[in-house]
Amino acid sequence: MKDLEVQRRRLVEALVSAGYLKNPRVIRALLAVPRELFVPEELREYAYVDSPLPIGYRQTISAVHMVAIMTEELNPEPGDTVLEVGTGSGYQAAVLAEIVAKQDPERRGHVYTIERIPELAEFAKGNLARAGYSEYVTVIVGDGTLGYPEKAPFNRIIVTAAAPTVPPPLIDQLADEGALVIPVGDPYIQRLLVVEKRGGKLYKKWGIECVFVPLIGEYGWKSTTF
Ligand code: SAM
Repeated sequence: MKDLEVQRRRLVEALVSAGYLKNPRVIRALLAVPRELFVPEELREYAYVDSPLPIGYRQTISAVHMVAIMTEELNPEPGDTVLEVGTGSGYQAAVLAEIVAKQDPERRGHVYTIERIPELAEFAKGNLARAGYSEYVTVIVGDGTLGYPEKAPFNRIIVTAAAPTVPPPLIDQLADEGALVIPVGDPYIQRLLVVEKRGGKLYKKWGIECVFVPLIGEYGWKSTTF
């Protein structure tokens, strides 16, 4: 475990040197969350290789630099209510919870995360419990392209699967002064899109190219044959 902690620190330092990580809150979160508890046991030794890893059901835990970039773009703050679409392993949800609910005990926000594959939702729940994030993260099974109206509006929304367009329910459920980060494109390559809502108006900014597994659902892709 000590060895993995050293690897975690070295990877975060490398991401800072490469310019991926600048925000001190995000840096602290990536140093705090043990990614080794979010990958299948047989892959633990690769937890700090900066690449996506398989988590079963043809899905992946994203590479750490991608989590870093998306979290920096999202810019969550303590006290925020966050929606994540695409729980996967639960790692990104833990990084978000670290920032919005743990870093400042005076401002306890919450992360709601939706996963369409029930077995992965269970995997994530177990990982989040072992890593100590259960009380800050609610895992929901369902189609995240519909958002989660029960707890809307959200200060921040992050989608960690590739969408053909931005699902309209997510725009509706974004709070004013809120931000949404989502990979948009075809199923094979996408660009990161940041949407900010200010005074009811939307402001869009396109970022880097990326490759995510497809977002499957009512406002996503219709087929599971990718
Ligand atoms: N954020 C995850 C993590 O930290 O491990 C990685 C996400 S993985 C790249 C994408 C996930 O999105 C998969 O687990 C997939 O099953 C899920 N997904 C795809 N379409 C979805 C939808 N409509 N609603 C909820 N989850 C969805």
